[in-house]
Amino acid sequence: MYKPPTIKSSETAAKELTGLKGKTLVVTMEIPWQLFRQHYEWTPDHVHFVRDMDQETVEALDGVLPPCDVVVGLGGGSCCDTAKYLAWKRGCDMVLVPTIVSVDAPLTNMVAVRVDKTVHYIGDIFPENLLIDYTLIQQAPKELNRAGACDIASIHTALYDWKRAHQDTGEAYHEDVAADAQTCLDILDANAEEVYHVTPKGIDTIVDLYRREVKFCAEIGTSRPEEGAEHIVAYGLEHLTRRHFLHGDLVGLGILAMSRLQQNNPDWALSLIRRCGLRYHVPDASLDEIRRTLLTLKEFKDEAGLFYSVVDTEPITPAFVDGVMEIVCKERAQ
Ligand SMILES: [Zn+2]
Repeated sequence: MYKPPTIKSSETAAKELTGLKGKTLVVTMEIPWQLFRQHYEWTPDHVHFVRDMDQETVEALDGVLPPCDVVVGLGGGSCCDTAKYLAWKRGCDMVLVPTIVSVDAPLTNMVAVRVDKTVHYIGDIFPENLLIDYTLIQQAPKELNRAGACDIASIHTALYDWKRAHQDTGEAYHEDVAADAQTCLDILDANAEEVYHVTPKGIDTIVDLYRREVKFCAEIGTSRPEEGAEHIVAYGLEHLTRRHFLHGDLVGLGILAMSRLQQNNPDWALSLIRRCGLRYHVPDASLDEIRRTLLTLKEFKDEAGLFYSVVDTEPITPAFVDGVMEIVCKERAQ
C-alpha cells in the first residue's frame, strides 16, 4: 500500500538524526559516513558499511546485524535500499538520508538486488521519513546529482510508447496519470537550470518529482509513465557490455535515440537532457558498444521479452544509428 513520505529539506536536515530515540543502526558507506561526520556530532549504536547488493549479501544482513529500533540509510541508492530491506524485514522504523539524488531508491518501495549481474527486486516498504540535507548532497560530484533527472526526463519518450501500446495492443492506459506525468516533465523543463547547478531548488525538484512519479506509478501498478524504449536502450547497453553504468548516462542516451526514432520532438528532448546535464554520450562506454547496442536493440528486446514500444513499430536502420552516433561524437568532442 502506498504511503506518502514526510520529507524535510534544509541545509542541515541530517542534524535531526542526533535526536533519534531507541537503538539506532546506520547503514552507509565510507564516503557518505565520513562526510556526515565532518558536519555532525552523532554516534549511533551500530554502523554497517554496505559492500555489495548481491541478493545473498543483503538477505544475510538481518541475521548478522544487531537488533535496532530504527534503521538509518545514509548514502546513495545501495545504502537506502539496504536500509529499506532491513526495515521491511524487521518491521522497525526507518529514516533515509540520501547524500546524492542520482536514483529514485529513497522514494520507491522495492529493493534492487543483483543476481548474476542482473537486477532483481525484493521487499515492499514505502519510505516514510526522508531528510534531504542540501549540504551533504551538494558535496557529491554534480554529474551524479544531475543524473537524477533521467527518470523524470524519460517521461517524454515513455508516454509516447505507453499511448502507442494502448492504441496498437489495447494495453491499459490512464489519461489522468499520463497528464500528471506530463506535468512532472513540464516542471523538470522549467527547473532544468536549477537541476544542472544542483541548487536547493534543483534538489527539491528532483525529490518532489520522484515522489509524485512513485505515487502515480504505485496507484496504477506499472512504471509505464516513466519507463519506455529509452530504458530498453539502458538495459541493452548493460546487457551487451555486462557492465554497470550511471543510470542517468544510459537513460540520457536512450531519450536522445528513442525520441528520434519516435519522431517525437527530438530537438526539444535533446535540449532538455542537455540543460539538465545528463551525459547522453555515456563516457564509460565505447562508441562501438553504443553503436552495437542500438543496432541489436530489437533482438535484445525480443529475447528479454520487454514491453511494447517504438522498437516494435519502427525499424532501427544503420542510417538511423549513424544519425545518433553523430550527436554522441559531437558531444564527446567538446
Ligand atoms: Zn530508470
